[in-house]
Amino acid sequence: MELDYAKLGFKCGLEIHQRLLTKEKLFCSCSALESGNKIGEIERRLRAVSSELGEIDRAALEEQQKNLKYIYEIFDKSTCLVELDEEPPHEINKQALEIALKIANLFDAKPVDEVHIMRKEVVDGSNTSGFQRTALVAYDGKINVFGKGIPIETIFLEEESAGIVSQDSEKRVFRLDRLGIPLVEIDTAPVITSPKEAKEVAKRIGYSLRVTGLVQRGIGTIRQDVNVSIAKGARVEIKGVQEIDDVEEVIENEIKRQISLIELKEELNKRKCKIGEEKRIEDILSGTSSRIISKNLGIAVALKLENFKGLLGKKIVKQKSFGKELSEYCGMGLMHSDEDLESYGLEKERIEKIKEVLNLKENDAFLFIFGEKDKVEKALEKVKERIKIAFDSVPGETRGVAKDLTTFFLRPLPGKARMYPETDLLPVPIQPFLEKIKNEKVRKIEDVEDQLLLELKDKEKVKEILYSRDFPIYEKLKQISSPQIAFSTIQKIKALRRKGIEIDEKDIEEVLDLYSKGKICKQAIEVMLERQNFEITEDIRRMSKEELKEKVKELIKKNFEDEKIISEIMKNYRLKVEIEDLKEAIKEVKQKK
Ligand SMILES: [Zn+2]
Repeated sequence: MELDYAKLGFKCGLEIHQRLLTKEKLFCSCSALESGNKIGEIERRLRAVSSELGEIDRAALEEQQKNLKYIYEIFDKSTCLVELDEEPPHEINKQALEIALKIANLFDAKPVDEVHIMRKEVVDGSNTSGFQRTALVAYDGKINVFGKGIPIETIFLEEESAGIVSQDSEKRVFRLDRLGIPLVEIDTAPVITSPKEAKEVAKRIGYSLRVTGLVQRGIGTIRQDVNVSIAKGARVEIKGVQEIDDVEEVIENEIKRQISLIELKEELNKRKCKIGEEKRIEDILSGTSSRIISKNLGIAVALKLENFKGLLGKKIVKQKSFGKELSEYCGMGLMHSDEDLESYGLEKERIEKIKEVLNLKENDAFLFIFGEKDKVEKALEKVKERIKIAFDSVPGETRGVAKDLTTFFLRPLPGKARMYPETDLLPVPIQPFLEKIKNEKVRKIEDVEDQLLLELKDKEKVKEILYSRDFPIYEKLKQISSPQIAFSTIQKIKALRRKGIEIDEKDIEEVLDLYSKGKICKQAIEVMLERQNFEITEDIRRMSKEELKEKVKELIKKNFEDEKIISEIMKNYRLKVEIEDLKEAIKEVKQKK
């Protein structure tokens, strides 16, 4: 189904987060590039604090209610007292600020006069202090994507959060090596009119950053947050799309979800659906042969939903039903009457008994939650809250990205009370930094495109290489060999990848080095990469000119013509002979005669 995004009132803006390539972190001297060894861990609990305006953020409060334990892993090269929040932040990393200003230049953004470091409240435990330090460095820029000017409203320099290792209902485990690595956040205006365009804009920004050579690369070093809404739906913040290529599909899925929820809302009101009574049913479930129920059964509460038949099972997006939405929202698993409950091992008689105590009518549905008492009670309140919202609207939320590229509930949208000044740090005047970078040239993506076109003479090839993750490898390879060989080697690497063979960048450099030293031929590059073995075995050793001449002489004795000589030798020694060498050898042998 192709959606008409203009008709839907689609609006979208992007936040691109990109880690900078600096030696040290943003507010301490720990390494931003090397973690070192894990040497321990600490445990914390976080409290939501009220802002200076006295409000407590709803998202923060919600997290606090989960009463989670946070474990932080410590690493020798990348953790000090600053990450542990036991020491105030040091002065801002000058290198990082310079890079941020160079990036601001790239997008024609206006730098601020003074950088004011702020604290932004963090509610998920991903920072030991409970806030993230962030500073506006420039505003009012733009980027051109296929001839359309996309305003870049703001560019922030901020610290990376701690990386999550694992989580369950009791605790979350984070690693502190990532915390405090400098990154820029680049925010576009919400002028993007389709998911496809969102992907193109994300790509253009991401690759513009990458060609500067001033940013980190590799998995996790760039991520996209998407703000998206449709007229009848709600604004949703989708956090952390990892692959630029996924941006389009993630947004499409979110819009489909919102459309389904709008349909659901109409149906709920048309049918005059109602939340009915709730009943404790642990007695009915006790002794069931359903493993999942008997293993987790503490108390159990069933909720009657009048005229809801079929709506809990309604598919919202892909395989996700409304029942699943409820489960994500309340943070607990639940079962409902639109599912085949017997497939969980729940006996028919028990199902009938639940219907009986709820006094269930033909068009009604029910759901039930089981587990520890306080968790069940909290979850049930959440479920009722979410169902009430469904009668009325699509809720505005912060959502995460699942493996199947649908989104899932993370928390309510944060309120406005999230930012306040960092009192440990003074404002930084920007003029000296601008002076310093004034004459330093930063490579622009347009210049790179022009250069690539000169090298490869083919627009499609230029696009393919510039927008591929192998572009930095291409750049290295062409230094060692030539643009053409670099390009064809990349093709080979891609082919190997499709076969499931992942090639390390260092290995590629090593092989190319052997080639440029004349030890192997072009044709052997792919073989060597595929073998993952960098020993020059006899079957791929490049033949010396003397050896070649000997072979040529033998064939001349047999009265072979030049063409026959070439085809004969190439047939037998394809991996060991460059055709140019062979032609030269023939010429030399014949000249001597
Ligand atoms: Zn540190």
